[in-house]
Amino acid sequence: MNKKDRYIHFIEYFSKNQPNAVTELHYGNPFELLVAVILSAQCTDKRINQVTPALFKQFPNPQALSTSNPEEVFNYIRSVSYPNNKAKHLVGMAKMLVANFNGKVPSDINDLQKLPGVGRKTANVIASVVFDAPAIAVDTHVFRVANRLGLTTNAKTPLAVEKQLMVYLPEDVMGVAHHWLILHGRYVCLARSPKCEACPISWFCKYYEKTHTEAALLKAETLKAKKLKDASKKRALNKISSALKKQAAKSKN
Ligand code: SF4
Repeated sequence: MNKKDRYIHFIEYFSKNQPNAVTELHYGNPFELLVAVILSAQCTDKRINQVTPALFKQFPNPQALSTSNPEEVFNYIRSVSYPNNKAKHLVGMAKMLVANFNGKVPSDINDLQKLPGVGRKTANVIASVVFDAPAIAVDTHVFRVANRLGLTTNAKTPLAVEKQLMVYLPEDVMGVAHHWLILHGRYVCLARSPKCEACPISWFCKYYEKTHTEAALLKAETLKAKKLKDASKKRALNKISSALKKQAAKSKN
């Protein structure tokens, strides 16, 4: 199957089965989403959703957060990963929003990336989710699933994945495709042991094709048989060599 066909099947399947996929982070406005996405780096959405209600209550807007300090913010986010750095980033981000952007989350990806704690991935999430911009954020799930499915070819960096996805995905599905890939990676196409046998899209997945087709299985079996054969050959040689050694020791005596 060629890449173009994989994209067609990918879009068709998810448009039908998850047309309204959205982020699992809880938020009520662009500022809260920005805070939640900054916090979610290398942490689970579930954990972030546990800490944000109290955080948002205490700091309901950029002004409130900008007059706080990292020590105070730390107390609300101590259970997430890298709380020290994230507390500094949140306060810095709020200060910059107030000083440079009139207390509003900017829509421009370059402006977003000027904010402390906001990299390309976070900027793309905000641009796409809040401002409906044609952007695709590449996190670890998007990176892995896009590669496995064969939506990308030899893409070694998140930026390379982003660029390749943007070439093939129509603008109107770019935003939701990010969530399709994340959710599929989170619940089915797991990093260490993808649930290929239960995967509803295995029939157009490149990784599945490589690892589960008759030819791939035959190759794996041949390799296994060769390994077994080599191991038994080695065992036989070891037996002969130890018998020879014993014989030599006997004749010395
Ligand atoms: S078949 Fe396996 S590797 Fe392919 S998308 Fe499904 S779970 Fe992932």
